[in-house]
Amino acid sequence: NRKVVLREYISRAPREDDMALVDDGGTVALRVPPGGADPAVLVKNLYLSCDPYMRGRMRDFHHSYIPPFKPGSVIQGLGVARVVDSTHPGFSAGDIVSGMTGWEEYSLIDKPGQLNKIQQSDIPLSYHLGLLGMPGFTAYVGFYEVCSPKKGDFVFVSAASGAVGQIVGQLAKLHGCYVVGSAGTNQKVELLKDKFGFDAAFNYKEEPDLMAALKRYFPEGIDIYFENVGGPMLDAVLLNMRTHGRIAVCGMISQHGMTDPVGIHNLFCLVSKRIRMQGFIQSDYLHLFPKFLDDMAKHYRDGKIVYVEDMSIGLENAAAAFVGLFSGKNVGKQVVCVSQE
Ligand code: NDP
Repeated sequence: NRKVVLREYISRAPREDDMALVDDGGTVALRVPPGGADPAVLVKNLYLSCDPYMRGRMRDFHHSYIPPFKPGSVIQGLGVARVVDSTHPGFSAGDIVSGMTGWEEYSLIDKPGQLNKIQQSDIPLSYHLGLLGMPGFTAYVGFYEVCSPKKGDFVFVSAASGAVGQIVGQLAKLHGCYVVGSAGTNQKVELLKDKFGFDAAFNYKEEPDLMAALKRYFPEGIDIYFENVGGPMLDAVLLNMRTHGRIAVCGMISQHGMTDPVGIHNLFCLVSKRIRMQGFIQSDYLHLFPKFLDDMAKHYRDGKIVYVEDMSIGLENAAAAFVGLFSGKNVGKQVVCVSQE
């Protein structure tokens, strides 16, 4: 059973060699080992999700909403898998499931209660890690539950071509908003305009003055900022917000690993403009997951929402795929295909 393990805890940006591909040398008994007190499920992993939050689990930091990985142990992450054997009454061989699994060929899931059986067979299975999975759900609850959107609102999304951002922009368009996105390459900017239907988009790396760029795209100001990056972008946005604007703080990928957010000078705008800035974690809204699945699958089938993913092939390329998130190598949702069947 080949697996990707974390070598040591890190406190800097992750590198490929922080993870190692190891073969435990054992033959895999394709059965749930007998004798376990609790029901378990053995799965063959098909697709693995690379998500920015996983970087936080590589630190020796135990006060987060999710515990750190263990050095020497297999990386844990969301995945889509096929059940090989099960002693849990809810699952049987052949079922396709999504949920927390390991970065390895086969995983023994000892808490099968957290697995979801995948029903939608006409939608690509890997989309259950993006459009119909955690990132899509994050976009959905972040936009509808946190942003308080109204038709005609001026909406700005950063990291807009990524797993979450591309959905936020498209939901905002469906809601009748004016939507602008920022991304880190010209190819991504074209994607935002041509594929996802953003009204405008810009490459933040080519803008010497973010404040001026936002003023150009939002001469009347921003009502909603869907925050994915933090740092100087947030600072520039604060000055360009309208009175009673809303900022949904989904993530701050530029600030990962920093103890103090850098480059923020304009927080007083929260007061002067009566802005509501709210952080959120998607898992607080899980009661909305079934409705999200129905809504999003319908949008997809009706052709109202499209999705772009960046697929790396092979477990041996998982570490590089993950590391690429932090320099913007991924174009769309980053997934790893371990096996197609
Ligand atoms: P993406 O698919 O958007 O991938 C990350 C992207 O972030 C990169 O492609 C890159 O795009 C951009 N990026 C990387 N480093 C920087 C930097 N230093 N400055 C600016 N941009 C950078 O990831 P997701 O869509 O999965 O996640 C987006 C955000 O949402 C993250 O902050 C993540 O932590 C957060 N999140 C929060 C959740 C919650 O419940 N609150 C749940 C899921 C995600 P580019 O080329 O455009 O720079």
